[in-house]
Amino acid sequence: MPGINELKRTLSRSIGEGLLSHAVLIEGEKGTGRKELALWLSKAILCKSENSPCGVCSVCKKVNSGNHPDVEIYGGNGNARSFHIDSIREIKNTLWLLPNESDQKIYILLNAENMTPEAQNALLKSLEEPPAHARFILTCENRRSLLDTIISRSTVYTLEPPTREECSGMIRERLPDFSEKDAEIFSIAFGGNPGAAISAIEEGKNDIVFLASRTPELLKKGESYTLAAELSSLCKKREDLLEYLERLLNITGRCGIDRAAGRNTPVRVSPIEAVKTSEIIERGKLAVLQNCSLELIESWLTMELSGVFGGNL
Ligand SMILES: [Zn+2]
Repeated sequence: MPGINELKRTLSRSIGEGLLSHAVLIEGEKGTGRKELALWLSKAILCKSENSPCGVCSVCKKVNSGNHPDVEIYGGNGNARSFHIDSIREIKNTLWLLPNESDQKIYILLNAENMTPEAQNALLKSLEEPPAHARFILTCENRRSLLDTIISRSTVYTLEPPTREECSGMIRERLPDFSEKDAEIFSIAFGGNPGAAISAIEEGKNDIVFLASRTPELLKKGESYTLAAELSSLCKKREDLLEYLERLLNITGRCGIDRAAGRNTPVRVSPIEAVKTSEIIERGKLAVLQNCSLELIESWLTMELSGVFGGNL
């Protein structure tokens, strides 16, 4: 199975030769970057720069921020059968209208396996004989969950899970302001799942993730007071504290393993520190779920983590 970069080369070649199918189906497990690839492909189709998609022109920027009038994104709420025929009717209503500012119009249909059979059937005709200006990009976890007739009208590309470098690359493609190191930290914090990392950034959870990545360093410098203060100002809700704990678990776990293998890591954590941290985090998560006071948990957490990172300098 090809990785995302190889798929991008294949797709770029098809666009260049004018051979890209009008219906593309991107198949891949959750976290492989299906939506990111769909957005990348939209930019590659619409961007007129020489190195398309350039990522910086107004077309690319509009697609990145979800504001391009010729790129429409549909999808259910993520649950089975939540992608209804109404959405397909809406598509049909605009399909034959000319694009607003580009020469093409792109319909992205996320999680196509959640389309009801009625919705899939309604889509067939449009997939088969679309107007010349229209393109469909569907994503799904597994093509077998779609009607054969949908698959046979699409060109299927299967994604394998991205490497950490590919994940960082996808984050920076969508958010060019992110430094390489920050993209790497987010990639690790979200277990190499570019979609989850980008949603978290868009939901404004950056500070919590950065606090998790700075935690070992703060404690090694003896700044447990700073950690306690930032925890209480950033994590006022249970879900925020759980978020912090999840990210800290991923960061320390991954960096501890990489450190043991002699690889460079953006956060300095030894394998033993990683194991001890994971035990504390499990207890912390339990306390959060058992409705203990957040204030108490946060000060307990600061003390316990200080014991791990402050005690063995
Ligand atoms: Zn561009």
